[in-house]
Amino acid sequence: MHESLRDAMFNHPQNIVMIIAIWVPVIVWSIMIIGWMIQGDTDAALGLVALFTVLGIGFTAMTGDEGLIPVLAFVAYASLALFPLAKWLFARRELKEMDIEAVERAYQALGVAPTNPALKFRLAKAFYQRGLVDLAISVGSKSIGNLPLAAFPDEHRDLAGWQAYATEQPPIHYKCSKCGYGNLPGDVFCQRCGGPFLIAYAGRSWQTGDTMKKLLSLWVALLLIVFGTNYAFQQFEPNSAILITVCLIGVSAFALIRGFGLYERVA
Ligand SMILES: [Zn+2]
Repeated sequence: MHESLRDAMFNHPQNIVMIIAIWVPVIVWSIMIIGWMIQGDTDAALGLVALFTVLGIGFTAMTGDEGLIPVLAFVAYASLALFPLAKWLFARRELKEMDIEAVERAYQALGVAPTNPALKFRLAKAFYQRGLVDLAISVGSKSIGNLPLAAFPDEHRDLAGWQAYATEQPPIHYKCSKCGYGNLPGDVFCQRCGGPFLIAYAGRSWQTGDTMKKLLSLWVALLLIVFGTNYAFQQFEPNSAILITVCLIGVSAFALIRGFGLYERVA
């Protein structure tokens, strides 16, 4: 027999405490997810599915099997504990975006004075900050390598420092992503199409660092399938429960596709 929500609360007052204990992390999580959607850290579709999942924890705790309450409380707090990790991942991504902007600014300055060695070296420095040591060395040595030490003391010191850190053999050429031409190390504008082709190298690795969306979508899929289907079979007729399960699997698949960016690869 199903108890009404009101009966359940009056008959088992200890559950009210547990339910409040669950709704606190649920509300904190919901606010965080809305914040991510506003800031564009996650797209709206994945954000809404995540929001639906978080609120689902709260409603399952209120209306589902009592035995589930401690498990749901654990899930809610464990999910909140993931937050520092998520924040750290975001902070890292923001740093990378800042570094890419430094590369773009250096390129803009070079566009006005393409042969200026100091500006070229600034680009090399931006590559180094971006973790692209081989590019920093090739651009840096081509810009000031043949110029006197006395004229560019800081640059020569930086370059020597980078060379000490170099671990990998630099590539023989750097391919332009626009026209496909293989440029020599040290070229900053493509020798065939004239484009600032090295920007693609600076931007390449941050796209794979979209860990937060992957994490969020895995979390959504896991919760929907484990708890959502369990709840459906407890609360509904088998036929309805099967239908709900199919829907939940569909929503989970959708979240995973959004989170791992498969739709971009297909398109
Ligand atoms: Zn090109």
